[in-house]
Amino acid sequence: MKEYKNFINGKFVDSKSGRTFENRNPANWDEVIGIFPKSNAEDLNMAIEAAKKAYPGWRAIPLPKKAEIMRRAAEIMISKKEEAARLMTREMGKVIKETRGDYQEGIDTALYAAGQGRRYFGYSVPSELPNKICFTRRDPLGVWGLITPWNFPVAIPSWKIFPCILSGNTAVIKPATDTPASAGELVQVLYEAGLPEGVLNIVYGGGGEIGEAMLSHPDIVGISFTGSSDIGRRIGEVCGKTLKRCSLELGGKNGQVVLADANLDLALDGVLWGAFGTTGQRCTATSRLIIEEPIYNKFIEMLKARVEKLKLGNGLDETVDVGPLVNKAQRDTVAMYVDIGKKEGAKLLTGGEPYTEGECAKGWFYKPTVFIDVLPTMRIAQEEIFGPVLSVIKAKNFEEAIKILNGTTYGLSSSVYTNDLNKAQKAAELAETGIVYINAPTIGAECHLPFGGMKNTGNGHREGGWTAYEIFTEVKTVYIDYSGTLQKAQIDTWQE
Ligand code: NAP
Repeated sequence: MKEYKNFINGKFVDSKSGRTFENRNPANWDEVIGIFPKSNAEDLNMAIEAAKKAYPGWRAIPLPKKAEIMRRAAEIMISKKEEAARLMTREMGKVIKETRGDYQEGIDTALYAAGQGRRYFGYSVPSELPNKICFTRRDPLGVWGLITPWNFPVAIPSWKIFPCILSGNTAVIKPATDTPASAGELVQVLYEAGLPEGVLNIVYGGGGEIGEAMLSHPDIVGISFTGSSDIGRRIGEVCGKTLKRCSLELGGKNGQVVLADANLDLALDGVLWGAFGTTGQRCTATSRLIIEEPIYNKFIEMLKARVEKLKLGNGLDETVDVGPLVNKAQRDTVAMYVDIGKKEGAKLLTGGEPYTEGECAKGWFYKPTVFIDVLPTMRIAQEEIFGPVLSVIKAKNFEEAIKILNGTTYGLSSSVYTNDLNKAQKAAELAETGIVYINAPTIGAECHLPFGGMKNTGNGHREGGWTAYEIFTEVKTVYIDYSGTLQKAQIDTWQE
């Protein structure tokens, strides 16, 4: 058990509040992972002040030099990968192979940033007038507030931190209350790699207190938020009033379609991984399975057999498939939706209750659950449950499957299993989601590609890859006239 402090201006500092909170292992609630300051607005103000002071100096450093720090951070992360993955599993419960993947995504994002430092392209565009050149450049904005969820304790902070600071901004991060340790260790990696003091600061505390104070602070130029659509809506409202830049990555209700011509074994592997990986607690988790009528009964039989073989337990055990939910509230939410599903008339195929065998008695485990004969309008087919619950829906044909796929207010990820090239292409065209997988599950994004969703999943930004850098920078258009005369665009005409 470790005692953590806020990290402001390159130093560990106590919170002015004098209050603390603990973080416990969701697979064994007797185990305390760490004690953290429950900070207040005064702590946040100090962090923002430090970031503001650091901004001009950091901004002035050439990008390839900043990128060297990102590369060193990646090297340190490579050396700490196993230790960090184990901490993450203890902190939020997902199985060790997945926390290794989460940390690897952080490493990859750091390496991408290291490359981006020498590849920070703008456009060079011809002018309509002679002896004049036009180009665009991207410049930082100032101090950013980064607010992150608990389900990807390192990957999501990395998606924000690396593009934000490589671009020349400075930042304050407020990690989720359920996973503060992993984010805290990541901030330390960057300082070990040579980040100047004040460029990145971490303040622990509740969303209602620190998060809210961040939104309304006049020195914060933008908020990068990943979390639920409800909180995202609130953040959008506050940022709208103050005209702060705001990027929102929100919830999902992702569907996997299996068409009659698909490779069913492949589709089965896909849905098991998509629905029950991270115990269903991914924004991209498969929570709806849409099966074409001719294979509906057969696929359900195959599914039941495999779901019932999934092994639950402490994620540090390499043989475990499914870890616990992150906390009691999340398990209660799952139980609530299972009741709703039953009352709505869906048929419970398997699961539907907490799992309390052996050492799991002290954790927030819930059996992988499948409802069949779900109607697309039922709440379990519409609302984000964020747990190991899969709703199976029958579709008459391809057209109806796509209609059901698109029939929710969310639009993050979708998946279609088919061997028909035409249907695969048509699905990619028609899916109302920011990410489409063909013959692969709804989860599995790669860090160098744009990531984000349509409809209630976000406000049009994309994290990951080159598009993340667009969030954190302002485009500046530069015209240089070297004619020595006054040339008037649209008024003077070109003459030989
Ligand atoms: P959440 O409850 O919305 O919390 C996200 C973050 O916001 C946490 O750090 C939270 O702090 C903070 N927060 C809470 N209230 C706030 C407020 N009033 N002002 C500012 N910040 C506030 O979400 P979560 O339960 O951590 O994560 C699960 C959700 O995230 C799901 O809906 C999932 O789909 C979504 N998600 C989306 C993506 C994506 O890229 N689209 C990726 C991952 C997760 P506390 O922890 O202290 O409450």
